[in-house]
Amino acid sequence: MDYIVFDLEWNQCPYGKEHEVARLPFEIIEIGAVKLNDALEETGSFHTLVAPKVYRSLHYRTREIVHLTTKDLKAGKPFEEAVRAFFAWAGPEAVFCTWGTTDLTELQRNLDFYGLLHLFQGPCRFLNVQKLFAVQYENTKSRRSLEYAVDFLKLEKSADFHRAYADAKYTGMILSSIDPSVIWACDSIDTYQNPTAKENEIHAVYNGYSKYISRSFPTKEEAMSDKEVRSTYCCICGREAKKLLRWFSASTRGYYCVAECPEHGYIKGKIRIMHARDGGVFVIKTIKVSYPEEAEAIRQKQETLRMKRKKARHKVSTKRK
Ligand SMILES: [Zn+2]
Repeated sequence: MDYIVFDLEWNQCPYGKEHEVARLPFEIIEIGAVKLNDALEETGSFHTLVAPKVYRSLHYRTREIVHLTTKDLKAGKPFEEAVRAFFAWAGPEAVFCTWGTTDLTELQRNLDFYGLLHLFQGPCRFLNVQKLFAVQYENTKSRRSLEYAVDFLKLEKSADFHRAYADAKYTGMILSSIDPSVIWACDSIDTYQNPTAKENEIHAVYNGYSKYISRSFPTKEEAMSDKEVRSTYCCICGREAKKLLRWFSASTRGYYCVAECPEHGYIKGKIRIMHARDGGVFVIKTIKVSYPEEAEAIRQKQETLRMKRKKARHKVSTKRK
């Protein structure tokens, strides 16, 4: 197994958002990566510039941040050639690692634009090094910049930030400093491509919580009436937990519930409705260990929402968050 720590730079429409191609708001112009072995030692590197095809001149922000010129990019490879070389170098055993979640999204969006999404299988398990840094060194909610983390760990700053290879190299150094137990307890799942059928839906169990990622449904209502979507299996033992509070909507895309496992006590469920690429929706359901006070707070939240909706009924019929 290899850890492929990568970073992308991208350009956007230089003539403003109203002129951009909706299917490709960010066009990849550079791919940089390092390869780490099981012991998190660097064993290889990859770098390529990509010649842009959609936005051929650089947005002023890109020029400022990335320090590349339009002329530099003309020497780049066409996207398909660059990305095929990258995947060939990464190899079939790659575990992709990035700082944050956007690089995986933009990589797939660019592949999608060129009809190459089949080159990248999703949904994909990956390591979000930004999140791992937060879990290892701070609290689990903070999300720091790459430069902050480099300073925090007193790593040598040998190259400029915001160039794909340098950022990948720094991200790799940060990953090497993280406890393997933290790395494997906190992997992430990218859902740019959600499961296509019931057989490949995702049921992942973590320490203290579980995650379910569904196939597509035509509508939110159909998703929310599916038995598997509504189920509340205990995230510790996997047994069906009895619902104390049925699923209720807290916003247009969010649902909550509370259940109780005879052995492990209170658990809480959260569902997020996501847009699927096929035009339908899919759900991401998280089941977490809870406790009586929190269960009571969720019940009160439902009550407050009910009262609010009752009051608002004659004014507005739908409320968007
Ligand atoms: Zn249980």
